[in-house]
Amino acid sequence: MKRRDKILEILKNKKEITVKELSNIFNVSEMTIYREIKELEKEGAIKRKHGSILLNTGKEKEVVKVPNCPICEKPITRAHPYKITVEDEIIETCCEHCGLMMHKKLEDKEVSALTYDFITENPISALNAFYVVGSSAIPCCSPSVIPFASKEDAEKFKKGFGGKVMTFIEAYNEIVNNMQISMKSCCSHGETITFSIKEIKKSS
Ligand SMILES: [Zn+2]
Ligand SMILES: [Zn+2]
Repeated sequence: MKRRDKILEILKNKKEITVKELSNIFNVSEMTIYREIKELEKEGAIKRKHGSILLNTGKEKEVVKVPNCPICEKPITRAHPYKITVEDEIIETCCEHCGLMMHKKLEDKEVSALTYDFITENPISALNAFYVVGSSAIPCCSPSVIPFASKEDAEKFKKGFGGKVMTFIEAYNEIVNNMQISMKSCCSHGETITFSIKEIKKSS
């Protein structure tokens, strides 16, 4: 049996193996094994994962598990979700709206929170950000809460899309007080108004 066939045979029984282990089994250099492995990988017979070699069964499609927002249960799809750090845990919510709702739940805990400027996507401490609340732009949950690093940017955004410019605490009070009655229904999507960042940038 050729060495490459033996490798496949071993993998059938063992499921995964490292280059080092194979080099020991065949008593050849790791480089030799490596070359063989590369060939097998090119043919699609095997694949490598976390430093191990596995048979490529083709079955195992990587399932990307999207976490859900702990407030509205929507999948969190944004590149930069709202992040709350409490003790050693990081809680992510789908958007600032749900982030503020989460703050309500964590009311008596010491937390820090990170948000991202809507235009530049630069991280900002949520406490220092300015928010446009209730504008016609609804990227996620309604009423939307859209963060900006500077008050001027928030004001410019407001000119185009309405809403109110608020500090963290003002936005918190606005969302939390309005939402206590019907927490789940807040996130049901009404009419979604689309907008382009380019346009916003132009008008600012
Ligand atoms: Zn949510
Ligand atoms: Zn949301």
